[in-house]
Amino acid sequence: MHDYQAASDLLNDKVILITGAGDGIGRQAALHYGAHGATVVLLGRTVNKLGAVYDELVAQGSPEPAIIPLDLLGATKNHYRDMAETLKQQFGRLDGVLFNAGHLSVLSPFEMIGEDEWDKVIQINLKSQFLMTQALLPLLKATPHSSIVYTSSGVGKQGRAYWGTYAISKFATEGMMQVLADELSNTTVRVNCINPGATRTDMRARAYPGEDPASLRTPEQIMPLYLYLMGKDSQQINGQSLDAQPDKVRPLYGSAS
Ligand code: NDP
Repeated sequence: MHDYQAASDLLNDKVILITGAGDGIGRQAALHYGAHGATVVLLGRTVNKLGAVYDELVAQGSPEPAIIPLDLLGATKNHYRDMAETLKQQFGRLDGVLFNAGHLSVLSPFEMIGEDEWDKVIQINLKSQFLMTQALLPLLKATPHSSIVYTSSGVGKQGRAYWGTYAISKFATEGMMQVLADELSNTTVRVNCINPGATRTDMRARAYPGEDPASLRTPEQIMPLYLYLMGKDSQQINGQSLDAQPDKVRPLYGSAS
């Protein structure tokens, strides 16, 4: 699906929530979903980054977006419940969620993983998704065709030395996607994962400081799969983990993330 071409009105009248929408892949997904007609709800922890994406969406003529400032590290069940209520009141619907926000832990030997760092990564990369999904499911079930997309990683499919809690959180994300997809298989909600593959963002630069960023695809270049999984052309796709860069998937001990 990396060569998928989305119709310009693919997401007209849809309301789509994106976590980590202020930077990297999430920012680009917001701009693309907005350009294809969606009202985008931008969730993230750095308000000025969200504001900049908001301005870009308005400037490109997309429907007026909304901002939810939220740090997934401290957010609780009540925050997600209130958020669902606000979305219901403001938009009356929710057609899709892209769970994109992620925290890259310090790469270290397994024996050196600190309990605090373990808890932080699991909270941001996994537990927040569990709680938010629970809170948003009633809204998602109420629309005719809705899509949940979680974000995985190469190290969420094949473990790799020193990737510790981050890799474990991505494996668990894949597991959560499979459990939920099976449970919802008789509903109109579909649930899938995207593995972006090595992509030119700040997170990638932190993980591979010696790498030439110009050698990597940009977030914009991997958007076809993000559009495909959010729109009607993927209505039959459920329970799958798809690579945004299938030609770049590298073997174990390679340098893909
Ligand atoms: P970036 O670091 O560029 O962006 C991550 C986004 O998540 C930022 O907007 C960040 O907010 C937000 N975020 C992080 N922590 C929190 C938090 N506690 N609360 C709310 N928002 C938070 O990363 P990428 O765009 O590269 O990554 C996007 C997703 O893709 C992640 O899930 C990552 O694991 C995955 N991925 C990326 C790959 C790559 O090569 N880039 C490869 C494989 C997977 P802020 O800007 O405020 O920090």
